Amino acid sequence: MNEKECIFCKIAAKEIPANVVYEDSKVMAFLDIQPANKGHVLVIPKTHYTTLSEIPDTLLAEIAKVIKKVSKAVLKVTKNRAFNIVQSNGKTAGQIVMHAHFHIIPRFEDDGLSLGRLNRLPYKYEQGEDKKLMKEIRKAMME
Ligand code: 5GP
Ligand code: ZN
Repeated sequence: MNEKECIFCKIAAKEIPANVVYEDSKVMAFLDIQPANKGHVLVIPKTHYTTLSEIPDTLLAEIAKVIKKVSKAVLKVTKNRAFNIVQSNGKTAGQIVMHAHFHIIPRFEDDGLSLGRLNRLPYKYEQGEDKKLMKEIRKAMME
């Protein structure tokens, strides 16, 4: 995806309109055009990064602060306490807009939404596989 054709870059540049709920020099939050629920907000870095992995740590920390701040406001406004943060990386994971973004999705009792099969069909570790994996992940973080 060319940045010039990126819909979220265009929103960040105010070339196309959006219902912006928060903005600073680096981060923007706006209502999703096809909300999963009332109050569904997208939080983006204004600079184009395709996935979470590409976002510099300092910017990611700024984004996390905005997610927290905006989600609090969304909950207040929707008189609600439950929400999901959803963030997809890559087509296979369901990412459609190739500009990294975080969904804030308020959740209501019996709203019929589900995170697909993510939490329905648990992967079953073989004997010892989980411990091995734990060690590998811990080791990888030291590298
Ligand atoms: P993804 O599947 O990539 O995580 O989600 C992309 C999200 O962007 C979708 O929820 C979709 O409704 C939203 N979206 C796509 N185009 C636009 C747009 O032009 N404006 C706004 N506000 N949201 C958009
Ligand atoms: Zn972009």
